[in-house]
Amino acid sequence: MNINYKTPEELKLLTDKSRPETNALLKKLKKKKPRRLDDVVHALHYEAFDNFDCLDCANCCKTIGPRLIDKDIERLAKHLKMKVPDFMGQYIKTDEDGDFVFNEHPCPFLMPDNYCMVYESRPKACREYPHTDRKRFYQILDLSHKNCETCPVVLDVFEELKKENF
Ligand code: SF4
Ligand code: SF4
Repeated sequence: MNINYKTPEELKLLTDKSRPETNALLKKLKKKKPRRLDDVVHALHYEAFDNFDCLDCANCCKTIGPRLIDKDIERLAKHLKMKVPDFMGQYIKTDEDGDFVFNEHPCPFLMPDNYCMVYESRPKACREYPHTDRKRFYQILDLSHKNCETCPVVLDVFEELKKENF
């Protein structure tokens, strides 16, 4: 699998173009819940990240941003040696679902070279994105289809999955 960087605009177009085939694949996977799906997806995930460097991309940090849990906020405030209320006032807002999120895009902690300024203390959701190494991948098929519009790795994982005989 050879992954190339694509902008979110390009990814959206490619995701739209392949939507009928991807929907057919997802329908099949949801029905069959193949036992080896996790093994196949995890292998594709590790292969992809062996060959593609997130520092050449950062689409997720630039365009979507994580949902933050209380522990993330406490850890980040501590990392920045700030009091939690001050940190929240400066960096956090509540989104339309009532969740805490960063108050701007790109993420306020993304540096111009795509490094994360708070990497060791980054939110749990940042550590877990794009979720292609998690167990029971069949549970997040629709979310992952949406993530094809942001993450070139997820788009490629889906394209590779179409070649598998499930
Ligand atoms: S996780 Fe995906 S979207 Fe985020 S930087 Fe890496 S390749 Fe890009
Ligand atoms: S905290 Fe770091 S990893 Fe998370 S969105 Fe911001 S820059 Fe990206």
